[in-house]
Amino acid sequence: IRKAEGAQKYKAAETLDGHHVDVVCNIAKPEDAKLVLENGGEGVGLLRTEFLFESSAAEPTVEEQCESLKAIVEELGSRQLIVRTADIGGDKPVSWMHIPQEENPFLGMRGIRLSFKYEDMFRRQLEAIYQTAIWQKETSGSTGLHIMFPMIGRMSEWSKARDITESVRLQLNAPKLPLGIMIEVPSAVMIAEHLAKEVDFFSIGSNDLTQYTLAIDRGHPDLCCEADSYHPALVRMIEMTVKAARAHGKWVGVCGNAAASPNLATLLVGLGVSELSVSPANVAAVKNIIRAVNYSKLQEKANKALELESSEAIMALYKINDDLL
Ligand code: PEP
Ligand code: MG
Repeated sequence: IRKAEGAQKYKAAETLDGHHVDVVCNIAKPEDAKLVLENGGEGVGLLRTEFLFESSAAEPTVEEQCESLKAIVEELGSRQLIVRTADIGGDKPVSWMHIPQEENPFLGMRGIRLSFKYEDMFRRQLEAIYQTAIWQKETSGSTGLHIMFPMIGRMSEWSKARDITESVRLQLNAPKLPLGIMIEVPSAVMIAEHLAKEVDFFSIGSNDLTQYTLAIDRGHPDLCCEADSYHPALVRMIEMTVKAARAHGKWVGVCGNAAASPNLATLLVGLGVSELSVSPANVAAVKNIIRAVNYSKLQEKANKALELESSEAIMALYKINDDLL
């Protein structure tokens, strides 16, 4: 029985009525890539590249960055690998960068804002990603590499990130890669219909989106709890994001912690999210719940959730799963 259960994790996550959900992984270092496949992950929905910068005493060279990326690509083959450009600052400090102390680092120089301030470093990271894509295409004929920008909150941030990326690509004569953004700042949700026209995909960062929407520090020991991701504001924002993306034929994933909770995962899929990116250890549980439910019921239930007025009410609705069969 244990062997049969073990094999289940390698099977696709398809609901009883045949709706497929991509279940991929969040990883934060090259050694994690092996765990993705071992645990039944279908690719990588979020590579947190901060490890490249946090673990060194100075900025790693393009070659060093390439080595790390190639090690991951070698494990994954042509499976999807979404590389998020450095999301430094806030909860992810890098001591050698000597970023000036700020009173509110979560609201300050972090993510894409920092990449623009240190544009040459941003360009070198992009160069490493494109060099890896060139190498992979040459050695195996295809690549699953994607590029994603963190903390986008304005159209101008997206277009500046895209233009810098495109100029690096053209300099290297590298293949085009899909370009997406994290949806983790409330302003991005509100302009999602504009962003969706231009990006290739969205990935909802529920950790930061919850923090910035509810004005609750994501690591606060007393204030943050699982109920936060069931907040009606979040549920509506996810619905808005999916609607905007769908109107332009784009897909939406969730790579924040919300995706890893089986009950929340059913809510996200019901709202139209097509990819869940979770830590390798959570793949089996998320796949299991998806296989045990009907997509049509998930959609009905998500519509009910959209009518409710409190986190508690939505959480209670999702405590019961029998109605999803
Ligand atoms: C998020 O904010 O939900 C996310 C996935 O990014 P990180 O946790 O790395 O900020
Ligand atoms: Mg984030």
